[in-house]
Amino acid sequence: MDQGLRLYAFNCGWFQCRPGYFVEGDEGDYLRGPVPAYLIEHPRGRALFDTGMGVRYRRDLADALPADKFGLQWFEGMDIATRLRAIAVDPGSVNWIINSHLHIDHCGGNALLPNASVIIQRREWDAARANPEPELYEAQDFDTGQPIKLIDGEHDLFGDGTVRIVPTWGHTHGHQSVIVKLAKGDVLLAGDCCYTERNLDVMVLPRATADVEQGLLTFERLAKARAGGTTILYGHDGKQWAHVHEGVPFDLGN
Ligand SMILES: [Zn+2]
Repeated sequence: MDQGLRLYAFNCGWFQCRPGYFVEGDEGDYLRGPVPAYLIEHPRGRALFDTGMGVRYRRDLADALPADKFGLQWFEGMDIATRLRAIAVDPGSVNWIINSHLHIDHCGGNALLPNASVIIQRREWDAARANPEPELYEAQDFDTGQPIKLIDGEHDLFGDGTVRIVPTWGHTHGHQSVIVKLAKGDVLLAGDCCYTERNLDVMVLPRATADVEQGLLTFERLAKARAGGTTILYGHDGKQWAHVHEGVPFDLGN
């Protein structure tokens, strides 16, 4: 496919929780998962999939959350603007933000991308605005003044099939994911429709699922895509992230 297409992964923070938060029923010590953001470079524009957390989640290393505490945090240099500048991309040059959903750890960096239009499922936008809740849906993260393009279902961003936004309901009522068609194969940026690879291995949803029926349908579609050779980058999977190279074109290997 299009050789001008590049995907870059960045970690914009950390998510700490017990295993049972990700896979209901799992037990054990606290896990630390990434809070990813992805840059998609296409000959016709730049898009980000998710943007990390707002500045209120920033901590100094000396004041980091203890490893056995639930919560979210990021440290200096992890915000999406700094991540982009580190690879010589001006945050002001990003054309589109695709938020998987509007929870605080997925759109908290939107404000740092002033010239982007935000693409979001209409039902997610409506749900977030109708149900503000601290630490979950906060307007200061997602209502940051850029134009909002509301979509209903699938959307082919460049009209050439290389960057497809697909609905993946379940975690929230209007969750969406992106399938990037790289030269070596398809990569599905899951967002929180699937927190970790283990969720899909055991087909168990997290407790925090807005629509269980839709969530399971989404899992079935993901499992099918995975079986068909699609690489899935999960929402907060620390185990998988250990193998992800940040800030370089994503390479499927071989
Ligand atoms: Zn999340």
